[in-house]
Amino acid sequence: MRAWASYGATKSDTGTAHCFSAADSLLFPHMKIVLDQDACIGAASCVVIAAKTYALNEEGKVFLVNESATYHKRNAAGEVIESESTSGMDLREIIIEGARSCPVLAIKLFEDDGTEIEL
Ligand code: SF4
Repeated sequence: MRAWASYGATKSDTGTAHCFSAADSLLFPHMKIVLDQDACIGAASCVVIAAKTYALNEEGKVFLVNESATYHKRNAAGEVIESESTSGMDLREIIIEGARSCPVLAIKLFEDDGTEIEL
């Protein structure tokens, strides 16, 4: 299962990424990352800061790079029962910092409960 589809082919690229925070790593905090490829101007500051999370496609538009970090295995009730390793993922704070660096606010982050993370 992919949490989002078609890298580089959609206007908005959305994923749910598991992100270890340094202090809370055992609790598997995760966030939803919403990328607005229409707004992205390819400035790449997000990529420089969080290269394991954000990348640019051939058209110079941002996409989420770590597919494995988005994988959830769910039970019939929709509860997450297993998650892929986050070994290739940036730390939560780095992902937030990368989003914060975007000059056109093309990256939005949300907590699992839907609360938008202030950038
Ligand atoms: S910082 Fe913003 S404009 Fe630059 S590549 Fe990332 S999303 Fe696109």
